[in-house]
Amino acid sequence: MSIKHFVRDSWLTASYYTGLSQLYNALAGRKRGIVSYHNVLPVSELLSYDTYNVDVAAAVFDKQLTFLKKHFRVLPIQELENPKAQGIFLTVDDGMLNNYEILAPILAQHDFSALFAICPALIDGEIPHIWRDHLFLLLQQAQGQDVLLPINQYQRSFKVTADLGNLNSLTRQLKKYVYENQVADIYGLVREICEKNKWPYSQISHDPLRYQFMNWAQIQDLTKQGHRIASHTMTHRVLKFLSEEDKQYELLESKKCLESQLSLSVDILVYPYGSMAEIDNATVSAAQEAGYKMALMNIQAPSLAYSALTQPRFAFPPITDTAHLHAIVSGYKFLFR
Ligand SMILES: [Zn+2]
Repeated sequence: MSIKHFVRDSWLTASYYTGLSQLYNALAGRKRGIVSYHNVLPVSELLSYDTYNVDVAAAVFDKQLTFLKKHFRVLPIQELENPKAQGIFLTVDDGMLNNYEILAPILAQHDFSALFAICPALIDGEIPHIWRDHLFLLLQQAQGQDVLLPINQYQRSFKVTADLGNLNSLTRQLKKYVYENQVADIYGLVREICEKNKWPYSQISHDPLRYQFMNWAQIQDLTKQGHRIASHTMTHRVLKFLSEEDKQYELLESKKCLESQLSLSVDILVYPYGSMAEIDNATVSAAQEAGYKMALMNIQAPSLAYSALTQPRFAFPPITDTAHLHAIVSGYKFLFR
């Protein structure tokens, strides 16, 4: 932990126990908050790979829900569009199998409902993995080998070692390449990397709870359990990098697909990634044009006009410390970035 973070966290703890953070919460704290989760895994310790930084262990998730129940009002997800409903809403992104097998049963124990954000093309298996997971899994499989990557135009090969830092660094460099070049056809790039290295472009078998998606029957069952479904676009590309036509495909086609598979109307969008690096005003307009009534971002304070289509969300790190969790929910922590 850096000194800056240590100082901030000590300050947060001190202000919690002296009541300062509660005072902040009473004066300026949020009346309404949307929490985002991804994977909840039945492990005691999480892997420290870069791609796993949105994962939470099942026991920690359970404790975080207990914390929310004790200190805040967790509202039924059906009330999400009601601006007067003041409390906490739960959302879960990406539709991985652990959402059905592990996360939903824990929600049920707490009598909570959530919004699940789904990408139909990933559920249908048209695309084997979300691109960043796919690149990570390919690199992990290639440990000990020399691989060709676009980050130097496939000129010289990179040695993939068994070292965690090496895998994290290569995955991060690939992500940087995608963002710097604003790659629209990201799955084309994954195919290209596979071709250059003579790897098959197909699903890589790995921990199914972490890497396999739910199927339609399981998603349907979630709706029967009282949960709701949002579109997370068709393929989880970066919307900001796409042409108008491709944006409409991602937004409109996913809505139609979910509505016909689940026989219900889908009016909520969860932007993939959801930060200002992936969303601009044109993206918000495209979401509105596609017929969404609400859209959720993944940051505290979007530097876009506040509207139903730029709703902020926050996430918890995998921690159970009450003072720290409290500071996140109240928004107090974000004053000390
Ligand atoms: Zn996502």
